[in-house]
Amino acid sequence: MTKIDPKKLESWNAIKWPEAATELHVHLGGSVPLHRLWEIAIARGIRGMGNGYEEFVNLVKREGDKITDLDSYLEIYDRIELIQSGPDAVRESVIIAIHRAFLTGGHIQSGPGIEEHSEAPLFRIGSLELRFNPLKRTGAVFLKGEHAGLYDVDRVIRAACNAVEDVAIGFKNRIRAGLIICFGRDMTFDANMILANKVREWLDLGLDVVGLDLAGSEKTNPLSDPQKLKEMKEVFDTVGTDIGRTIHVGETPYIDVDTFVNTVEALNPVRVAHPIAALRAYWEKNDDRGLKVLKERNIACELCVKSNLLTGAVKDLDEYGKVISTFDDFEIPYTFSTDAPSLQGTSLASELQLLYLHGSIQEEQILRALQVAEDVTFLNQK
Ligand SMILES: [Zn+2]
Repeated sequence: MTKIDPKKLESWNAIKWPEAATELHVHLGGSVPLHRLWEIAIARGIRGMGNGYEEFVNLVKREGDKITDLDSYLEIYDRIELIQSGPDAVRESVIIAIHRAFLTGGHIQSGPGIEEHSEAPLFRIGSLELRFNPLKRTGAVFLKGEHAGLYDVDRVIRAACNAVEDVAIGFKNRIRAGLIICFGRDMTFDANMILANKVREWLDLGLDVVGLDLAGSEKTNPLSDPQKLKEMKEVFDTVGTDIGRTIHVGETPYIDVDTFVNTVEALNPVRVAHPIAALRAYWEKNDDRGLKVLKERNIACELCVKSNLLTGAVKDLDEYGKVISTFDDFEIPYTFSTDAPSLQGTSLASELQLLYLHGSIQEEQILRALQVAEDVTFLNQK
């Protein structure tokens, strides 16, 4: 890391933080601290965890040279989804993930528990949206939903919703949490439709799901094929528009600006995650169609600093500064989240500090991004 300018550190320490922050983009698979994930795997007798905890950590941690792109970043999720499969493991994971956010989200150094922090947090996470794919928690994750797993997906989702309610009671509402259901780019149309019909049923039964997402490998299914995009639109339309919509789109070069615009227009999200393709088209080809569609639709962008650097979506912290200033030039709102805090050993506070001390962001931009997150959270629609 570059040498820290003492003046910069002084001004960082003087930032007046809001008491509570909102985190919009966190995956359940990346949110359970590794030691807890290990314990769940051992307790449940899951195979393929390496020869002990150290090897397991080495296997699942998202860092360094083993991550070169989105696909290598996602590689470990199949195994984690297997550990988290079934109603009991999902319930436990959701409770741990929300608790983890509350305990560590505002700390620069994230450790297993608040007892280990010496300094006070900058803020606490007051609202958290947690996203996951219930079909990939049925015990047949490698089949990507093509085959019914060992566990019943209805029981899985009910366990997740119950866990959210239990945490709300336990915290006396000091943290609000909500679940987003992810469809998979890597799942077949039929599997996504099964999930879509289930989500519709769950919503009609009053289960507490706040939004939809599209996640997974862009290389596998960039949605550049009009037929594939039509199918995905049918999946989203099957659920309807009474809950929030966000999508991962444009994190990799597999999505060009045409596909980016077509996807946004077809799936009609109110937020998007990592829309780097729109920025690259503008920077490299002076093609602002992607940015214009974000601006015209007032779509908020979910940015995840360390994750974007790991996958190579954004080259370095200098380029991150350019991401932020370009969004500001186009008056496109953006927010910050951690994506997979436990797998990346990170927290929202530490990612904001990383940007700030490097000079990629100013105080006003950070505070504005935190306010945007509070304004656009799907939890407001509850
Ligand atoms: Zn994500």
